[in-house]
Amino acid sequence: MATSTHEVGLLVKDQLDELEVDIAMCLHCGACVGSCPANAIFLNEVLLEFGDGCTLCKRCIKVCPVGAISMIGGG
Ligand code: SF4
Ligand code: SF4
Repeated sequence: MATSTHEVGLLVKDQLDELEVDIAMCLHCGACVGSCPANAIFLNEVLLEFGDGCTLCKRCIKVCPVGAISMIGGG
């Protein structure tokens, strides 16, 4: 059922939508973590995860240098 060879890690269903990070693209640079006003992103050795408090401001999507974060379902 996967549509690509990339593994997709992720995460949290919020009020309106979902955020998704392509872990095959993620550089673990931490830029998204630092950009999040809600401190809702957590980076560990393997995954980038989104926690409670996300307001879907999309800052993390904009700051990611490789475009690894996207929103599922539009919005
Ligand atoms: S959309 Fe905004 S609030 Fe949600 S994880 Fe990204 S930077 Fe944080
Ligand atoms: S900004 Fe992009 S590349 Fe950097 S840790 Fe976040 S998702 Fe990964």
